[in-house]
Amino acid sequence: MSDCVFCMIASGAIPATIVWQDEGIVAFADLNPQAPVHILIIPREHYTGMADDVPADVLAALLQAAPRVAEAAGVADSGYRLVVNTGPDAGQTVPHLHMHLLGGAALAEGMVRLA
Ligand code: 5GP
Ligand code: ZN
Repeated sequence: MSDCVFCMIASGAIPATIVWQDEGIVAFADLNPQAPVHILIIPREHYTGMADDVPADVLAALLQAAPRVAEAAGVADSGYRLVVNTGPDAGQTVPHLHMHLLGGAALAEGMVRLA
């Protein structure tokens, strides 16, 4: 998708700090980190989000990348949280499927806090 910022990062058209990548997945540092380690893991292929009938192999590749990205980022042993915001109530701002990997410090307990 030509006007999608994450497609542009995946293709190298705009810069990002790439942490890990393979043929289907790119992981890069979030521009506005919410934790000492905050990485976005995306499929190279464009899907709007979880509701986009994402093929099982793409979802598997996304999840299977997480421990490799964590290893590359140095948080494999200390631990990390994976988050996929979907739609407006979850605060999804970029309509290209992405998974947040957060770590590098003890994160707040619980995941549900109303805005
Ligand atoms: P969402 O809120 O959609 O789940 O997360 C989108 C994330 O993308 C946000 O954490 C935001 O900081 C990050 N982001 C938005 N634009 C860019 C960009 O151009 N480069 C990078 N590295 N991160 C971005
Ligand atoms: Zn895209």
